[in-house]
Amino acid sequence: MGNTLEILNYIGGKWQPSSGADYQDVVNPATAEVLGRVPLSPAVDIDLAAQAASNAFTQWRQTPAVDRVQFLFKLKNLLEENFQELARTITMECGKTIEESRGETRRLIENVEVACGIPLLMQGYNSEDIAPGIDEFMIRQPVGVCAVIAPFNFPAMVPFWFLPYAIACGNTYIVKPSERVPLTMQKIFRLVEKTGLPAGVLNLVNGSKVAVDAILDHPAIRAVSFVGSTPVARYIYSRATANGKRAQCQGGAKNPVVVLPDADMDTATRIIADSLFGCAGQRCLAASLAITVGEARSVFTEAITEVASRRVVGYGLDEKVQMGPVITPQSKERIEALIGKGQQEGAKILVDGRNTNIPGYAHGNFIRPTVLQDVPPDGEIVRTEIFGPVLGMMHADNLDQAIAMINSGKYGNMACLFTSSGPAARKFRYEVIAGNIGINLGIAAPMAFFPFTGWKESFFGDLHGQGMDAVEFFTQKKVVIERWPKEWKRKF
Ligand code: NAD
Repeated sequence: MGNTLEILNYIGGKWQPSSGADYQDVVNPATAEVLGRVPLSPAVDIDLAAQAASNAFTQWRQTPAVDRVQFLFKLKNLLEENFQELARTITMECGKTIEESRGETRRLIENVEVACGIPLLMQGYNSEDIAPGIDEFMIRQPVGVCAVIAPFNFPAMVPFWFLPYAIACGNTYIVKPSERVPLTMQKIFRLVEKTGLPAGVLNLVNGSKVAVDAILDHPAIRAVSFVGSTPVARYIYSRATANGKRAQCQGGAKNPVVVLPDADMDTATRIIADSLFGCAGQRCLAASLAITVGEARSVFTEAITEVASRRVVGYGLDEKVQMGPVITPQSKERIEALIGKGQQEGAKILVDGRNTNIPGYAHGNFIRPTVLQDVPPDGEIVRTEIFGPVLGMMHADNLDQAIAMINSGKYGNMACLFTSSGPAARKFRYEVIAGNIGINLGIAAPMAFFPFTGWKESFFGDLHGQGMDAVEFFTQKKVVIERWPKEWKRKF
């Protein structure tokens, strides 16, 4: 992909340029190379996509579920065949390491696989003889035209928390990728095209706020899935629901990990470091606060400091690299300013990743792992989603205190505990107010057949992405009550 790519929309089965004139560069965050120019499509392109999706809907919903999923089986095979190429594209536009991009691509494929079970998953239920000769059924029908608005940090996987379930259930769909990482979806839609999926079932519109607002206001679009930062999630949830749409909006996070003195410290350190510094901290499930309990403090601090200082930072296409850059120069600047703020508030910097120089990548947005000790509980580092490779450390005297610290935060995406105690683990999962819990795990990312939950300010809505929640979200229930008493005379 040496040359600058022309990024197109895919509407009604055809690739076409945006109807507008606004474009922005897509920049490789490690090399600063311009990879493409993404259109910031105007509202008219969302309207074209919504019309194409509406036109395709009737026939698609009448296509039997067993036939609909055949396209997903084909897509799964094409994704496997293009696995390495997709991973490379993710690394080039998003910055994560090639191994992380492979992991993301695998997660995408798993969602396609689970959605292939829709003929069974979307069944309803029934009761015979709710009264003599009267039966009652619940059947699930698709909602109509649905859309997803995606973030930059998982350009491939996040749209697939929703998309395969949506179309398998008989809906038609519009994808609006993050304008910072539009190339991966260009590649995936080239594969979609090869499956022979009927025109208009899946549509792709590139853009930013204008396109998003057009989705939120379009009367034909019945349901919106969003993943991104909390302020935008709140905005999208309010506007979509005010317009009578279903909405599920996953927001930001500040994920704590608690280390008890009885944890296996080597394993805990290795796993927590991957959670903290993997994807350069740009994961909604990245741990970013470590709370040590009792004697865990000194051992864990020493171990994590050492691991943070040793992490190999560079261009993610290099297999030896363990951490890539952050997404934009503005993001780097913001993260470095937050580290400075933490220091001003009294935290001690044990490892300082600012002002780094990666040989050969002078223009990349690199920050090395950073560790801040004794961050004040009400300070900026504890309250703010940094979305960079920065660990804030706090200390608690006991597990109760650690849980209270977690529960006082405004986010509730994930919390993890490292321990060898069953009762401590049970107490933690029982009492912690967060949607995804990890015990001796640093990234509690639900498999495709479980909902990707998230509570408090990390989620607006009720049904999450993936698994049965996705089936619920992308279907509406219809209840039918039928009276056929046997004493009625036959007329045939
Ligand atoms: P973002 O909120 O800036 O952007 C997400 C999407 O919203 C993009 O498609 C963008 O075009 C659109 N958008 C941005 N500003 C908008 C506005 N004012 N009006 C309408 N649309 C707007 O998020 P990001 O920086 O791309 O992604 C990082 C964020 O996503 C982090 O906060 C991270 O925690 C979160 N995230 C959450 C989850 C989760 O499951 N909870 C998963 C991945 C990422």
